[in-house]
Amino acid sequence: MLTPEQTETIKNQLIEKVASIFPEDKQDFAIDQIKSMNSEELEDFLKKNDIALQQGTQKCIFCSIVSGDLPSYKIEENANAIAVLEINPVSKGHTLIIPKKHIHSIDNVPKSIQKFSEKISKKLKLKLNSKKVDLIFSELMGHQIINVIPVYENENINSEKSKASEEELKSLIETLSKKETKKTPPKKLTITKEKTPEKLWIPKRIP
Ligand SMILES: [Zn+2]
Repeated sequence: MLTPEQTETIKNQLIEKVASIFPEDKQDFAIDQIKSMNSEELEDFLKKNDIALQQGTQKCIFCSIVSGDLPSYKIEENANAIAVLEINPVSKGHTLIIPKKHIHSIDNVPKSIQKFSEKISKKLKLKLNSKKVDLIFSELMGHQIINVIPVYENENINSEKSKASEEELKSLIETLSKKETKKTPPKKLTITKEKTPEKLWIPKRIP
């Protein structure tokens, strides 16, 4: 059983979370629902929605992306990390490699994730025709990530970020998820002339 204090704290956490979970027009309704729950109903609600209780700490944004609580534009995924498009990129195709575990320091980023980053960087270079691709570690809320930045001119991690439109991001996902199609040499065209029967000119019969 939750104590009244716990119930209150959790309700407040949920209400904060509502903004990121529910569409705007349903937020008020959801908030009212949460406020009206008693502690039993609240516990039930948490169980049904598989929401883990976080005591006091704000959930890390990257962990939320990994768990799917926050929407993202995913390029690829393996057992240890996911690659998603940065929605405020410094260059076209700017990608974030997010370790699935909340890893604090560069030293703890496993080799497999570095390899995964290199794979993604090759893919970006090939598909987007950038001059090169830089891999840069950065960290937010204590979660270590790797920026994969295609460089077309001289963009870098400190370049100005600009919000990418949904269309841009979707078309990038499409470009990047296209399978490599092997170029098959065009088939030799053999031109065969169809023999047309010679037309016979028949003189009109003169009666
Ligand atoms: Zn995290």
